[in-house]
Amino acid sequence: QAPVGAVRARLVGEHGWADLRGPALCTVETPEEARAAEAKLGPDPLDPQADPEPFLAAAGRSRRAIGVLLMEQNVVSGIGNIFRAESLFRRGVDPLRPGNSLTREELLGLWEENVELMAVGVRVGRIITTDPADRPGVPESEAWPVHANYVYHRHGQDCLHCGATVLKRDLNGRGLYWCPVCQA
Ligand SMILES: [Zn+2]
Repeated sequence: QAPVGAVRARLVGEHGWADLRGPALCTVETPEEARAAEAKLGPDPLDPQADPEPFLAAAGRSRRAIGVLLMEQNVVSGIGNIFRAESLFRRGVDPLRPGNSLTREELLGLWEENVELMAVGVRVGRIITTDPADRPGVPESEAWPVHANYVYHRHGQDCLHCGATVLKRDLNGRGLYWCPVCQA
């Protein structure tokens, strides 16, 4: 199959392929450089052995917005734009709050939210972040894309929880989606 869009790299295996599109950073490195880069990464919510402490510490002392910090790879690894928006919504956190204004419990909650949402993503093969109660009659397997998410790409539509209009703005070059009422 021909690559679609701005594909930076394609990984090909016996059973399929995966394209890397729209990464924040994409470079070719020697194994030594790769190890050095890995050592700088924040904990990975997909890693069952991961220790969230470095994330709690780094985010908890930063004055930058939590919506920015969640996508900083040296703070926490692997959280993309959908997980950022959806985890902040599910935890009722305003994306623009400085990291150091969040309590330890709030930061740990965001970590746990991403652990759970990413596990669903791996199991279903789609990023489904809605609870069954918020998509009555629509099973997980059929939720994508219309019933899959609360705020991601739903700007201009009603919030599934409060009915307010979901908003979108630019944050660090990526679209940020949030509910101004649920996440006040
Ligand atoms: Zn809302």
